[in-house]
Amino acid sequence: MAFENGRRRVVRVKRNSGHVVGDNVVVTGGVLQRMPRRTELRRRDGRGGVHLVAANLDVLGIVIAHQSPAGFVDRAIVAARVAELQPFVVVNKSDLPGTSELFDMLNEIYSGSVPLFAVSAVNRTGFEPLQKFMSQGCRGVFVGSSGVGKSSLLNVLCPEIDLRVGEVSDYKNQGRHTTTVSTLHALSGGGELVDTPGFRDFGLVDITVEELAIHYPGFEEHGEIACRFRNCRHRTEPGCAVIRLVEESVIQAERYETYLDLLVEVEAGQAEARSKDWR
Ligand code: GDP
Ligand code: ZN
Repeated sequence: MAFENGRRRVVRVKRNSGHVVGDNVVVTGGVLQRMPRRTELRRRDGRGGVHLVAANLDVLGIVIAHQSPAGFVDRAIVAARVAELQPFVVVNKSDLPGTSELFDMLNEIYSGSVPLFAVSAVNRTGFEPLQKFMSQGCRGVFVGSSGVGKSSLLNVLCPEIDLRVGEVSDYKNQGRHTTTVSTLHALSGGGELVDTPGFRDFGLVDITVEELAIHYPGFEEHGEIACRFRNCRHRTEPGCAVIRLVEESVIQAERYETYLDLLVEVEAGQAEARSKDWR
């Protein structure tokens, strides 16, 4: 626990105390009272259970590399917007071929709405703009699938944490990552990063169909998209404003195709989660 005067002390909180990393508390006579949260970031586990990951975050860093799954960035941007965090994208491994093409493609899609950074954690290059962004009073967390280099990035940004790199989590080989302690690290250049092993390993951020339909990058800037149906999935519904904007070429056909692919994926994920509930 860090006090406002900079002092630090280790306190034990019970697992079910309701406190998570990032919480602000007032201490009176050894009793912790939690202050209202500005934001809450949650994740869904494989069985559909929802867990609070961290409180009072400002930004969500979406880490990708050339081998990242398609749709991940869009999915994570939606998750960030749902949690009212500002998303930004870090393209790691820019020392490897093919990364600049990936960066250019992302730039074309997201420039103006989502900050983008290209770095190489191995070569320690490209970090200045990212550090500057983080220093603007930002508290964030990184998401990204296993192996994109999140541990490596954290090691460069906060050298004192010294995470083991390349420790790909394996759910069948449970003995290894038994620690689920989340920690908040102050970056030397300013800003803070939360490291939550469970969340790092979890990788993908789960979203619902409704969240996708509202927050998909490229739809939101048309403000209140006035579809006839409030729960419109923008697929075949009559009176869909998104379909009209695609027909008018205001929304790129390619972006719409990607949306439809993601919609199928999210629908399948939700159906699977529901069938597990029934078992
Ligand atoms: P995590 O699972 O997302 O935490 O990824 P790690 O940080 O453990 O890195 C996974 C693998 O990618 C390791 O073998 C790293 O050495 C490698 N890696 C990380 N960053 C870079 C980079 O910038 N360039 C290259 N070529 N490899 C990297
Ligand atoms: Zn619609």
